[in-house]
Amino acid sequence: MANFFETGIEFLKGVGPQKAAHINKELGLFTYGDLIQYYPFRYEDRTKFQRIEDIDEDMPFVQIKGRIRKMETIGEGGKRRLVIQFSDGTDDIELVWFKGINWVVNKLKMGVDYVVFGKPARFGRKINMAHPEVEVLTTQNETAGFLQPVYHTSEKLKAKYIDSKAISKMVRQVLAVCEDRISETLPDEFLEKFILIEKRFALWHIHFPSNMELLQKAQFRLKFEELFFIQLRLLKLKIARIEKFQGAVFSQTGLLTKFYTDHLPFDLTGAQKRVIREIYEDMKSGRQMNRLLQGDVGSGKTIVAFISMLIVVSSGAQCAMMAPTEILAEQHFEGLKKHADALGISIGKLTGSTKKSARKILHEQLENGTLKILVGTHALIEDKVAFQNLGLAVIDEQHRFGVAQRAKLWAKNKSAYPHILVMTATPIPRTLAMTLYGDLDVSVIDELPAGRKPIKTIHEYDSKRLQVFGFLRKEIIKSRQIYMVYPLIEESEKMDLKDLMDGYESVRRAFPDQHISIVHGKMKPQDKEFEMQRFVRHETQLMVATTVIEVGVNVPNASVMVIENAERFGLAQLHQLRGRVGRGAEQSYCILMTDYKLSKEARLRIDTMVRTNNGFEIADVDLKLRGPGDLTGTQQSGVLDLLIADIAKDSKILQLARNAASDVLERDPQLQRPEHMNIDRHIRSLRKNVVNWGRIS
Ligand code: ADP
Ligand code: MG
Repeated sequence: MANFFETGIEFLKGVGPQKAAHINKELGLFTYGDLIQYYPFRYEDRTKFQRIEDIDEDMPFVQIKGRIRKMETIGEGGKRRLVIQFSDGTDDIELVWFKGINWVVNKLKMGVDYVVFGKPARFGRKINMAHPEVEVLTTQNETAGFLQPVYHTSEKLKAKYIDSKAISKMVRQVLAVCEDRISETLPDEFLEKFILIEKRFALWHIHFPSNMELLQKAQFRLKFEELFFIQLRLLKLKIARIEKFQGAVFSQTGLLTKFYTDHLPFDLTGAQKRVIREIYEDMKSGRQMNRLLQGDVGSGKTIVAFISMLIVVSSGAQCAMMAPTEILAEQHFEGLKKHADALGISIGKLTGSTKKSARKILHEQLENGTLKILVGTHALIEDKVAFQNLGLAVIDEQHRFGVAQRAKLWAKNKSAYPHILVMTATPIPRTLAMTLYGDLDVSVIDELPAGRKPIKTIHEYDSKRLQVFGFLRKEIIKSRQIYMVYPLIEESEKMDLKDLMDGYESVRRAFPDQHISIVHGKMKPQDKEFEMQRFVRHETQLMVATTVIEVGVNVPNASVMVIENAERFGLAQLHQLRGRVGRGAEQSYCILMTDYKLSKEARLRIDTMVRTNNGFEIADVDLKLRGPGDLTGTQQSGVLDLLIADIAKDSKILQLARNAASDVLERDPQLQRPEHMNIDRHIRSLRKNVVNWGRIS
């Protein structure tokens, strides 16, 4: 009986091996089980008949019934068309065919009652429907109002008469024989508590809902189930990790106290303090920490990382901090070195451009444990780099790092996995973070340091360039610094570099008496570094650059960010760039320059930037615009390969499912209790069924 759902679709009436092979290939559907999980992507409303006199062109697909009054073919050759006057007694509507005319003429008769389904459109003063569906009116289609499921198929399949209707017939066949065999996957108490309909009903109504309400119930039930099992799996992973992976215990706070009393440059925000407490709790717990620290740009993540390091170094262990670019590694190093020196902690830097001789010394000091903090780039996870006792690895701006690299860090300490702190300014919406990083704990810094003035964001068309330059001049006179950023994307790299150089020339002409830095991806690391440092030291007033400065760079005196061709940037990137200013006490500005012509999406991105500074709000819009796959662009997107739920839209259901999963595991981690039998059985069946398991793993 368990194998019933693995029956091949070729055994369905009217399918057979040949059709089945096409469906296998085009849609990836092989078995009965696949078919009933192939959900419609939309539904046509066949629940009611419209009166023709009520129909206008703004309506979606509508259903009418009536008779043909007149049928004629008009025009010649390519312009030939069939026009039918169709009436239901309230009014007439024109039904039009441009193709397959002979077939329609032969099929349709005067004096017969028909059901017509199509999209109304306006043609001159008349309303018509092109290529509607027409069926003879029967007692069945007149009374059994229903929502017609519409399934994705392909052109190839349609050519073989496997259209949405055909798929719907196949699904109906399977459901008719298997309804009794569909077992419930959720506990009875869930059905009551979350008001869920039974699985077998849900499957029936997702395909053949008799009304809107039942459809919604079916969708809710199936989305909940899908998200529940994903969350259950992620939470189980997390529990397993906690049990398996012991972490070194770091409870000393000597250096921390010294730093707080003598060297802390400012008061920590409430959010920073809370996160530091969360991290400290982890470190003294004996469990290995895997924590994602989310904080908007400028929220002060670096100091939190440094204070976490102090907890580790107080106990004599070592720390590593990994940044995605050399510029950023350099900046972190400079920033942390001040504090480390004051406390007498040895700190080093390792990047791709570290000289061989310096590298050798670093390696030695890491191995004998004299070097306590190492800041660097990818260079720091190379196999040659060995620590005496790595206690904490901090990864900054994690969206540039893959999971594989995280794992490599784990391997750097053989006796106990180092604690991991992943910091990101990409404000992943909580729902998505939960799905992607369900196995990580999440801390959020949701408060900016006091005294920051919100950045003013302005949208200007290219034609206003002179006024914009005038504004920049005033800011420079006030001793502020300016970033001007140009897009640089892979495919058109040469063009972009030319844009950048042209831009640089025009800036030079407009500001003949100012010093200008230029930084782009094609420069040697040390040249980039040189230019960057000139800007940091305020030897240059303007920085013309590509997005290499996107991440992390901190120049508090820079108060204006001009983004050229802003329509070419994604929302997340615009927000990152804007975060480069607004770091000092002065009023800061972000000026988005665009062409007059903007696509709808580009306009929404620009408007969103102008409207809000809130990274989470921006991330939500971004998620809706781009979909979750794009947002992360990582291997983890397998998690997001969902059958029915939608991370962007179903965040409430996700939250519900998450809580339910965590409740269950808290009460019954091994899923041994009788009331959890359904869950356990379903997980086992998922595990057996490789295809399905792959989907949610
Ligand atoms: P991000 O979270 O983007 O990495 P940084 O750690 O670079 O932010 O911090 C941004 C700036 O804010 C730095 O100049 C930092 O010294 C400063 N800063 C951090 N925390 C505070 C605070 N509590 N009060 C004042 N300034 C702070
Ligand atoms: Mg940072």
